[in-house]
Amino acid sequence: MSHDEFPTDDPAVVTCGLPYANGDLHVGHLRTYVAGDALSRGLRRIGQQTAFVCGSDMHGTPVAVNAAEDGVEPREFAQEYHETYAETFPKFNVEFDNYGHTDDATNTELTQEFVRSWVDGDHVHEKEIEVAWDTEEDQPLPDRFVEGTCPYCGEQARGDECDEGCQRHLEPGDIEDPVSTITGNPAEYRTREHKFLRLADFQDYLQGFLDRIEGTDNAKNQPREWIEGELQDLCITRDMDWGIDYPADDGEGDAEDLVLYVWVDAPIEYVASTKQYSERVGADEYDWEQVWKIGGETEHGTEWDDDWTAESGDIVHVIGRDIIQHHAVFWPAMLRGAGYNEPRSILATGFVGIDGKALSTSRNRAVWADEYLAAGFHPDLFRYYIATGAGLETDVDFSWDRFAERVNGELVGNVGNFAYRSLLFAHRNYDGTPDTDVSDDVRERIESAIAEFRSAVRAYDVRALAELATDLSNYGNEYIQRSEPWNLVDDDPERARQVIRDCVQLAKAVAVVMQPVLPGKAERLWGQLGEAGSVADVSLETALETPPVTFDEPEELFEQVEDDHVEALNDELQTRVESEPADGSETDDASADGADDDTPDLEPLETDRISFGDFEGVDMRVGEIVSAESVADADKLLKLEVDIGHEVRQVVAGLAELHDVEELPGTRVILLANMEQATIFGVESNGMVLAAGDEADLLTTHEDAPLGTRVQ
Ligand SMILES: [Zn+2]
Repeated sequence: MSHDEFPTDDPAVVTCGLPYANGDLHVGHLRTYVAGDALSRGLRRIGQQTAFVCGSDMHGTPVAVNAAEDGVEPREFAQEYHETYAETFPKFNVEFDNYGHTDDATNTELTQEFVRSWVDGDHVHEKEIEVAWDTEEDQPLPDRFVEGTCPYCGEQARGDECDEGCQRHLEPGDIEDPVSTITGNPAEYRTREHKFLRLADFQDYLQGFLDRIEGTDNAKNQPREWIEGELQDLCITRDMDWGIDYPADDGEGDAEDLVLYVWVDAPIEYVASTKQYSERVGADEYDWEQVWKIGGETEHGTEWDDDWTAESGDIVHVIGRDIIQHHAVFWPAMLRGAGYNEPRSILATGFVGIDGKALSTSRNRAVWADEYLAAGFHPDLFRYYIATGAGLETDVDFSWDRFAERVNGELVGNVGNFAYRSLLFAHRNYDGTPDTDVSDDVRERIESAIAEFRSAVRAYDVRALAELATDLSNYGNEYIQRSEPWNLVDDDPERARQVIRDCVQLAKAVAVVMQPVLPGKAERLWGQLGEAGSVADVSLETALETPPVTFDEPEELFEQVEDDHVEALNDELQTRVESEPADGSETDDASADGADDDTPDLEPLETDRISFGDFEGVDMRVGEIVSAESVADADKLLKLEVDIGHEVRQVVAGLAELHDVEELPGTRVILLANMEQATIFGVESNGMVLAAGDEADLLTTHEDAPLGTRVQ
């Protein structure tokens, strides 16, 4: 069953993963919020009624741990960060219709209602489990109060999340070799009673849900693996004071000293925040129940058949890719168990790296939100950079050098240059828009930009959306270059009038299509065109309407990023990273980012993409080393005979100092078979054995694909 195309008749809501109120915002967080903001603006522009909501995640151990370190109460600690976030987002032109927090009355009431619904639907049960315990402090160690080894992948993990490894959610008691983060002592396991949501009740439903869901491939595909086999119960309570109380009136056991797990009340804030928005503007204007609730079908989830799809509003979640499981497995089950609508789409954004390495808050290798703003750059420049850096689910690298290059080349040199020269020429020669009709070619070009805009929004393709303005400006610049209107004014005034008329129209279209990603700059260009009102309020088709007859002399839309400014910012970042101890403990994280791990120094990723066709030209085969011997006069080189099914190839490889010659025969390797032939130290080399890094870690296959099998 597929969804109606946007714009639909129902209201939509776009949400962003809630930031944990426990640390400063950095560019890694901002990527998700910029994407959500641009997308909601894009949806509105194509006529979709849309609310854009979020809130701070106040509860849970991420906040409690940091508050304890600072010696303040969690509420006070979280409130301060919440207020900072609420002030910071608008400075990046991230304009939520409502920004709440999980500790307010709306969310508390809704959360307890959800839990009561699950209890009524018989989806909650109580059982005894082993929880980690600090014997010195004599207290339980929920979630981030404990660290240890992930039982799934063996990486170092937090109590509730394998953040550095497989990204899986961990249940209390799952983690191996638990260590208390309070005292550093090995923790012991003790038996406690807790409440569980029986996810297995929703297993069939979730299968169907994952078939219906739209969004990024990672969000659609990764969860399939997680719901194979019977789903584990989700422990929904914790031994803590800080959080929303488990509603004790469930008629089963004593739950008075339990609070709800932070991942219970956090996503419910999406609903609570929409409700607050609705209450503020009135249900006639925007009805949160129309979006989130299922129109009077039945009371609770289990009675529905599992293929049933909601005829309600459209819920779009934009999150970091580290919290896919929470949104694509737990959350739909939670919603369904409470009689709520399901998400239409989940967009999981990749991480943001810094200068080719992982962003690391513990090493202070991050570009902070405040730092960007203090540098005096317009927020739209960052928005553009991050939106166009890669497709949503791909990691993006942030570097000040690249930032300057992109801003100067694409925004200053292309978009800004086009708008400025067009409007200046028009103002000086015609006092505004020349009095003639737009040419057919230009009209068609704008029409196709409008169509591309619609399809980009429908495909949730924020990068394509961001690139519309540069593409259109490119077209305009080429048009001006080709026509040379400055030479036409005297020789062929009619033609000059036509060219400039077209360019002013193109500039107007640029303002309209760039608005989702560059809202501040779009507004400015709108004003320069002498247009009334806000460009945010007009329809896409306005791009084709005639601009005002007169307008003032324009100003440059973008400012050049200067080299010495970039140099200073680079130095600052470098000094900061070097001054941090390499083994600094992690102090900051947020649910919307991740990527806070310390990885070895890696070569930066190639920014130039190759086409699939280019890749197809690379012929890599599974091979096996038949023999290996040293090459005369070359300490590092070995002459290998490699069997690749069709034939045995002789290749020369620099493996002598890194591998035991005796042990190489029989090793399965990957051979680049169509590498050009070479003669190395007098020995013919007919292919290349693939290996990773300075240690020449040989590539091989996991299973036993026959020799000669092509790698694809
Ligand atoms: Zn793991």
